[in-house]
Amino acid sequence: MRTKLVVGNWKMNGNFVQNQELLNAIIPGTKELRNVICAVCAPYPYIPAVQLALKDTHIFWGAQNVSQFDLGAYTGEVAVEMLLDFACRYVIVGHSERRSLFGEDNHTVAEKFKKAQSAGLIPILCVGETLAQREIDETERVIEEQLDAVIKLTGINSLTQSVIAYEPIWAIGTGRTATPAQAQSVHAFIRSKIAKQNTEVADNLQILYGGSVKASNASDLFAMPDIDGGLIGGASLIANEFISICSAAQQ
Ligand code: PEP
Repeated sequence: MRTKLVVGNWKMNGNFVQNQELLNAIIPGTKELRNVICAVCAPYPYIPAVQLALKDTHIFWGAQNVSQFDLGAYTGEVAVEMLLDFACRYVIVGHSERRSLFGEDNHTVAEKFKKAQSAGLIPILCVGETLAQREIDETERVIEEQLDAVIKLTGINSLTQSVIAYEPIWAIGTGRTATPAQAQSVHAFIRSKIAKQNTEVADNLQILYGGSVKASNASDLFAMPDIDGGLIGGASLIANEFISICSAAQQ
């Protein structure tokens, strides 16, 4: 059985005080939950404080991006070693905002995935289609290309130590959530595609749904057989919402 995972993606939000308040609420609020892993991915400058706040708790932490390069002359970048210095467990790679606003293509994302994983971090690989692509029935093709770039570079077994997040771009930050059936259909596609190469990897892989998940829709989404939790943006900044979403993952 796959353990459910709920990851908050704080994006470029919060400040030192707000983050502490949020963590002070979600630590006790999720403490009694069983069979669900909770994590938050914070902006880089706050990771040391997040580590300090979470280190003896049940909540894991991580980053929202990482460089594909080794230490060196890459102004403004952050290397995997730096994330490991602060005991990050997870790192998001290929979020659609990185792809669309910062020009990350499938190959770059695959390199980031490989770099993170070979250093011992767990990459959360984001895949998903635009509304235009969905409307012309290109969803599976787009996702297949995004996955294939990673599998080609790292091999199918590398997915063992990773998480995939299906995030339809039209649902991110828009308040428009994929229906549980729409999300399940893509999750099942992803799992069956991987199963063609390795059934064990596919069976154990956590595939998260992301895109306007809230307390009010989380239970229905998480009840789907191939949805193993969520990657949560806006709602992860509101303590009660995030706690409820984590609780929904437990049921
Ligand atoms: C995200 O940024 O990964 C996300 C899913 O955002 P939201 O929950 O706000 O749609």
